[in-house]
Amino acid sequence: MQADGIPVKFDPNYATPVRGAELPAILVSSDDVGFYGDLKFLVDHSPPFHDMVFVVEGCGGKEVVDDGKPRVLTFLCSALALKFILEAMSYAVVNTPIVTPQENETRRPTVTLAHKSLPCLKKTDKTTIEEILDFSKMYELDDFVHLTLYDSMKKSGHFPPAVMLAVTAWTHHGNSNYWGTQLITAGGLQAMDEWSTKIIKYHAPDILEGLTTLFQRWEEGYSKFKESSVRVPIDGYDGFHKVCLVNRCKAFKDYKGNFQLLQTTTREMMWAYAFRSPMLMHPSKVAKYCMDTIGCDVCVERIAGAISWAWKHSTKKQTWTMNPRKRTPKRGGKSITKPKKKKANNGAAAAAATAAP
Ligand SMILES: [Zn+2]
Repeated sequence: MQADGIPVKFDPNYATPVRGAELPAILVSSDDVGFYGDLKFLVDHSPPFHDMVFVVEGCGGKEVVDDGKPRVLTFLCSALALKFILEAMSYAVVNTPIVTPQENETRRPTVTLAHKSLPCLKKTDKTTIEEILDFSKMYELDDFVHLTLYDSMKKSGHFPPAVMLAVTAWTHHGNSNYWGTQLITAGGLQAMDEWSTKIIKYHAPDILEGLTTLFQRWEEGYSKFKESSVRVPIDGYDGFHKVCLVNRCKAFKDYKGNFQLLQTTTREMMWAYAFRSPMLMHPSKVAKYCMDTIGCDVCVERIAGAISWAWKHSTKKQTWTMNPRKRTPKRGGKSITKPKKKKANNGAAAAAATAAP
């Protein structure tokens, strides 16, 4: 660092002063990397930032002098985290509906454009994620950062389900049920790292309870599924169908007429398939997967039918989803519970509700 607090090293994307900046500044990370920027946006949207820039200068005896020199602000936050925050902020701006004065209409960028401009979050470590979240909380930027953080992490595809679940618990963005399901086949409790457990315990302890029972339910359901899938095809006939025998279907040739071998092989393959993700067990997906590997529609209909039957009779959706009890979303957070289906007696219920004091 130089005598005037200006760092020697700058992030390449933020290495030059912003032209026409209203509040020119250099933000300095804890690892001494500088970012040229315009504080205007941060000051306008973050009360702590506003106080930091104006109140401190006003009360500290230091005059607010507009000498055009950038303010130098140092943060207890790494360059990686600081860069993400800055990018997430500009991403949030891009995704804010723009009202054009000429046309007087609101325009929103397309989803593709928004997705493209998402800040890149390559395999960042958990410390950086925590720094980003802490910074965002301290400077009251959650509304700008939370959704972007979750989306960027999801887009990067680098984070294990435990970390994704932890960020979901913290930010209240994303589907905790989904990550819970991913977690059961990633190894259950073994796939939970210390950091994620700590975060979930603090921000949404009910998810942690939900996980423990989910892993138990899955263990039982999965072994029940294995047990009940050891059965003859749905038509009860334990051998190649006569159509297959006459036509010498692909499966008949592949397994040299050994139906039992075809059945055991397919069954074991389906166990692995279900284990990889229970979400794939929809009958149509099962049939497609079997078709791709067996290649005879008659054989597939019988064997895939038996597998789907076994799945349906041994598991319920609760076997592999958490369904945590209703959580009260934090301010600004989205509710994760689906709206209830309209009941036939909705009108009566509504009337009763309005009549109540
Ligand atoms: Zn066949």
